[in-house]
Amino acid sequence: MHIQTVAVQALRENEQEHGAVVPPVHLASTFELDPATSDGTFSYQRGGNPTRAQLEQVLSAIEGGGRAFAFATGMAATSAAFSLLGAGDEVILSASVYGGTYRLVTEYFPHQGLGHRFVDDLGELDDDSFTESTRMVFIETPANPTLRVTDLRRIVELAHAHGALVVVDNTFMTPVLQRPLDLGADLVVQSATKYLAGHSDLLAGVATTRDDALADRIGLAQKAYGAVLSPFDSYRLIQDVKTLPLRLERQQASAVEIAEHLRGHDAIAAVLTPGSHSAEEAAIQASQATGPGAVLSFELDPAVDRVRFLEALQIPAFAVSLGGVESLICHPASMTHEAMTPEAREVAGISDELLRLSVGIEDVRDLIADLDQALAAAR
Ligand SMILES: *Cc1c(COP(=O)(O)O)cnc(C)c1O
Repeated sequence: MHIQTVAVQALRENEQEHGAVVPPVHLASTFELDPATSDGTFSYQRGGNPTRAQLEQVLSAIEGGGRAFAFATGMAATSAAFSLLGAGDEVILSASVYGGTYRLVTEYFPHQGLGHRFVDDLGELDDDSFTESTRMVFIETPANPTLRVTDLRRIVELAHAHGALVVVDNTFMTPVLQRPLDLGADLVVQSATKYLAGHSDLLAGVATTRDDALADRIGLAQKAYGAVLSPFDSYRLIQDVKTLPLRLERQQASAVEIAEHLRGHDAIAAVLTPGSHSAEEAAIQASQATGPGAVLSFELDPAVDRVRFLEALQIPAFAVSLGGVESLICHPASMTHEAMTPEAREVAGISDELLRLSVGIEDVRDLIADLDQALAAAR
């Protein structure tokens, strides 16, 4: 079955009480056990509950199989991935990794005896990049906000040859557009706060793997750290995922149209989309994803006043985050990537003039008209 059908029908085989077409929200924190064995399907909510279990079933189904774990936030899922590392181990990450991941790695790893190495361009990773202690490569592709593309198959081959795990933060693509587990990655993490939930009103994270031993350890981290998704939020995410393919398809189509429009606009200096960096990256993107997604970045012409442009916009809200039904625009240098030094930002290609647009489901004609009037007002 295709993903839009799976997203809606994943729980069809589960028998719901009264024939209800949506699962119930089970709020119990504890469950009665069999006195003879002190056992039961569920015992305590942190360890598992029926609503979260149904969500995890949906999340695994849309990923094309494997075991999925739902967390309270995307960062909790990322933390669970890093719990696979032990003292002395090292992880390689892209220099433009998500700001929260950057914070976690730079603030906590040193105290935990964990090593980390940021590389400017994961495309240039080779055998010499790996040391004895390299145990993990953590990738986002396309990268944020430059939308540079990394060849997942190549990284998987390299990392596995050196005994390192590959973890992919697939927040920007979602399993609708890219399935890293199919390409050999060991673990996928996502901020479900973004496209999966899609309405800018819910924080959640997910980690998925097809390796049983890894799954056991991610499940342990979920229970031991305790950053689990609540039953209410699990229920809401089950419902939100039903429209994920539909929303993303519309958002992506609009993003493609907006990118094309901005490329022809004389107030825009550059437009960044997955594959725009080079023909090689375009070919990689085409080989590992079914589309570019719905986030694009652009640089204003120096003659355009950035603040006036942002103030003049009527539709996109000036806010961090992405993936919601409403369009959002942000200024990475002062917002999402503020924690990086100016030099690190320059190396990563994040200029002060760069803006990132997360395209929502509004009518694309209105979005383009709004961008045009704001550009005109800001010159
Ligand atoms: C938002 C985001 C995260 C963190 O997710 P939270 O739900 O905010 O904890 C991780 N990775 C990427 C790429 C993100 O955009």
